[in-house]
Amino acid sequence: MLSFAEARQLVITQSQSRANPRSALAVPIAEALGHVLAQEICSDREYPPFDRSTRDGYAVRAEDASQGGQLHCVGEIKAGDTVSEPLAPGTCVQIMTGAAVPVGADAVVMIEFTERSGDTISFGRPTQVGQNIVPHGSEAHAGDLALSPGLRLGYAELAVAAQVGATSLPCYQRPRVAILSTGDEVVPITDTPGPFHIRNSNTISLSAQVQLAGGDPVPLVNARDRVDDLAAKIEQGLREDILVLSGGVSMGKYDLVESVLKGMGAEFFFDAVALRPGKPTVFGRCRNTLVFGLPGNPVSTMVTFQLFVIPTIDILGGAKARPLPLLEATLVERIQEKAGLTHFLPARVEWVQSSALSPEVRPLRWQGSGDIATLTRANCFLVVPADQPSINAGDKVSVLPRFDVL
Ligand code: AMP
Ligand code: MG
Repeated sequence: MLSFAEARQLVITQSQSRANPRSALAVPIAEALGHVLAQEICSDREYPPFDRSTRDGYAVRAEDASQGGQLHCVGEIKAGDTVSEPLAPGTCVQIMTGAAVPVGADAVVMIEFTERSGDTISFGRPTQVGQNIVPHGSEAHAGDLALSPGLRLGYAELAVAAQVGATSLPCYQRPRVAILSTGDEVVPITDTPGPFHIRNSNTISLSAQVQLAGGDPVPLVNARDRVDDLAAKIEQGLREDILVLSGGVSMGKYDLVESVLKGMGAEFFFDAVALRPGKPTVFGRCRNTLVFGLPGNPVSTMVTFQLFVIPTIDILGGAKARPLPLLEATLVERIQEKAGLTHFLPARVEWVQSSALSPEVRPLRWQGSGDIATLTRANCFLVVPADQPSINAGDKVSVLPRFDVL
């Protein structure tokens, strides 16, 4: 059986070999968060566009403002203002953060290191040429590449786009992800469930995960555990780039997902992973759609989505697969799990001591992979390696942050 890391690698390779060029569309900057950039964005001018003061203080000629020296202050420059006169020798000018340093000045002295008496400024420290000035063009020249295609637009990327005046951004169309829950016991959340029914929470959580990952969720109506209904709903899902099924992949008599997909011509890359929760996870391709069959237990669905579906959304969306952001933490209580499977246990990481750079992690008591109530108290999954099933308190472990809350 594949390890979770091998299975993930297979997902990445298969997704890369099917990442056809995607069409691009113009997205207003205010709506572009999380989209993947499709074309280069270049600087419209030099950055900074002028020699920018990074401090409130006095613009000086460094050689004039020696330790113990005094200069006559001839005025002030606010951010956004200019002075036309070059700074004359023996003078200084008060300057604010973000203002343009006048011609002739080559340093800014922080106001904290000066004393003022009338218009006479005394300097308490030596002054170096260039201090507290970011020279024009030192961050970018006009025409320089500011943002590369394939970048996922986060807040920093959007800030750069805003800075260079790119108010509308060419972005790849997000991959469309059909979401198909299965199970005779699963009812719509708007229905009153019968005594042995459960509401369809997976379609909601999967839609949320798809959105967070940068895909467009396409929720379908739940499929019954019947070949004809399942085949008809899968048929709808195959119109999209990715199809994510939940449930129906275990060993039960009515777990029909794999056989129905096979009957529709699917090719499978794996149908089991040495992982808990998530062992019966299926990954394959049917026609032009990459298909994931995730186990129906809600926590299994959530973990396997994070491990396996996110890289496909990244790659089909025109970005690189983001790495698994594993953190190292100190385990606070001993754990013992079954060997041979990598476990992802709901847990909480906390940075307990304010000075600690590395967090502590505590596994949470839970009722198994149907227990979403416990998951709301978890902010991560504690990774118990397949070949190291017991870990002592005080040992270092890896944790996978929940990608929505941490
Ligand atoms: P399955 O993988 O089909 O054997 O389902 C495993 C467990 O997950 C069962 O207890 C199901 O009732 C539950 N389950 C399956 N689908 C959903 C869903 N859409 N929402 C919530 N729970 C589900
Ligand atoms: Mg089922």
